[in-house]
Amino acid sequence: MTAAPARRIGIFGGAFDPPHRGHVALATAAVQQLALDELRVFPTGQAWHKARDLSPAAHRLAMAELAFAGVPHTSVDGRELERAGPTYTVDTLRELRLEFPDAQFLLVIGADQAESLHSWRESAEIARLATISIAARARPVSPATPFDASKLPPGRREPVELPPMPVSSTEIRRRAAAGEDISQLVPASVARYIDHHHLYPPH
Ligand code: ATP
Repeated sequence: MTAAPARRIGIFGGAFDPPHRGHVALATAAVQQLALDELRVFPTGQAWHKARDLSPAAHRLAMAELAFAGVPHTSVDGRELERAGPTYTVDTLRELRLEFPDAQFLLVIGADQAESLHSWRESAEIARLATISIAARARPVSPATPFDASKLPPGRREPVELPPMPVSSTEIRRRAAAGEDISQLVPASVARYIDHHHLYPPH
């Protein structure tokens, strides 16, 4: 009897402050191209590598649920928001490994995050626990990137092809605070949520 293939679980973390169309496109592409059985989206707690204060966890969780509601096989997992102190991807991966001992984990990240992956806590352990799936991002990426995904063993990397989308949460916050239109950059449900809760008011 042959063993059933391992369940493929994608892991997609972010501040999602707010989630935007680039995130949704990346999640959709990852589910399809990586043939994921499941994609879990993890809004991060106060991430150690983001200097600014994030919007309250409850808002980011609610917006992520709205944004990813239409992506097949995808759910939002709020566990990192409940953790006291800084959040680390390696801790989440270890927890998931205990919950799903036989699954294959694929860490889905944009190219800008991949560039700094070497500085994440226990990055070698992350690469051991998960296959790394990097998507292109329309931002200049330094040529001398210290984390070279091509050096990972072939079984430990699976790229995601995504047409570069020049959208970022930073730009959306800037536009919202300036009273500019953001409707092209975020799902309609997220735009309504931001408006209703006055999330990014002018400074
Ligand atoms: P900020 O502008 O506040 O830094 P962000 O737009 O980079 O936010 P995050 O929540 O930090 O959004 O990103 C979560 C993940 O999504 C990261 O892995 C990031 O690389 C990826 N990502 C974000 N925007 C895009 C995009 N336009 N194309 C591809 N990947 C993206």
